[in-house]
Order: sequence, then C-alpha cells, then structure tokens
Amino acid sequence: MAEGAAAGSKRVLSAQETETVFRRLSQHMPGRTPTAKGPKDQPDPFRSVISCLLSAQSRDVNTAAATKALFELATTPEGMRELSQETIAAAIKPCGLYNMKARNIERLCRFLIEELDGTVPATREGLMQLPGIGRKCADIVLSFTFGKDVIAVDTHVHRAANRIGLTGAKTADETARQLEAAAPKWALRDGHFWLIQFGKAVCLSRRPKCDACFLADICRFNAVTD
Ligand code: SF4
Repeated sequence: MAEGAAAGSKRVLSAQETETVFRRLSQHMPGRTPTAKGPKDQPDPFRSVISCLLSAQSRDVNTAAATKALFELATTPEGMRELSQETIAAAIKPCGLYNMKARNIERLCRFLIEELDGTVPATREGLMQLPGIGRKCADIVLSFTFGKDVIAVDTHVHRAANRIGLTGAKTADETARQLEAAAPKWALRDGHFWLIQFGKAVCLSRRPKCDACFLADICRFNAVTD
C-alpha cells in the first residue's frame, strides 16, 4: 500500500491507520452490489457519459427528467449530433446549466465521432478528453459502466475522507488523487460504496454522528494540528 499523498501532515492518517479505516468500513458499510445504480443506470457507455454530464450540480430527480427527455430524442452520438443545441437545451432544461451542458453535449458528440469513431474510451485519460467530463464523471463511468476498481469521489466521499484524515484535500479531484494513492489495493473496488454510505449514514454533513462512530478513535476531524 502506498503512503497517502499528503502523508506527513498530522491531519492525514498513516498507512496503517488507513488500512484500519478501510477494514472497519468494509465490516460496517455495504459495498458494491450487482444492483448498484450507476450514472445513472444507463445501458451503454455513451448514455452513461451523457447522464453523468447532465448530473453536474443537479438533483437526481431533475437529472432523471432531463436524461429521459434527451434520450427520447436520440441515444447515439450520431443521432444526438443531428439535434440543434436549442433542441438539446430545451430537452435538458430540468437539470439546470442547460445551455452550457447542451454546448458540451454537442462538442462531445462531435469529438466522439470525429476523433474516436463514436466509441467512448474506457480509460480515465480518454474520458477526461471529452468536453464537459471531469475527473469525478470519468471515475463514475469507469467504476459503474466499465467495472474498474476506482474510488469515485462525490460530495459525501470528499467530506468523509477529509474528516477522517484519509486525505487532506480541498477539492474533490485532489481527494480522488490522494485516495487512489493512499487506499490499499483491496479497498479500491468497494471504497466508493463504503465511503458514500458512511457519509450519508454516519458522517453527515451538518451533524456527524461522532458519538456512535466506529472510526471515532482514529478520525482526525477534531484533531489539533500545528
Ligand atoms: S468521528 Fe465524526 S467526523 Fe469523524 S468520521 Fe466519525 S462521524 Fe465523521
């Protein structure tokens, strides 16, 4: 197991503590299941990528409405490229930032067709070349659609990882980089699922349940640092 990227800081756990945290998470929280919902339960990589793009700063219910409306119009890069930006924007309006997202969808379809023969890449680097696709989206698609052992970092994972001291990062992308370096290999497959459930059930945003937490003796949330 590699040391955490920010190891050396008193806020960040040692490799041994990190191992203990993941071991306990694996014992207390549900991991990946065959029915785990991806972005967002789409049948092919193209629709997964588009669905993930639409989910940025959008509630699940609004993303679902936008996704459904758009996929009623087209489900392939070629089909979607036939649509005008205005048509795409009107369809995806429920998910917000619809003009920017429509522009990115148009550019993404063009890039896929012209540069990649319409095939969605199965690597992080490849996915992150696509307009509108950042690290979080790339990792979600890698994990859920391509079944890769990747800890995708959303707001719950970001909050929990930094409170515990698995990482010492200000942004979700930096948390993702540090987690990948710090987590034991055996934890990469289910780590996202353990941490997201932990963030929703125990390490809540406003009122973390520290008194009942099985990580309280290790957690750095209340640690005094220099
Ligand atoms: S002790 Fe509190 S802050 Fe730390 S991981 Fe548990 S719930 Fe979160």
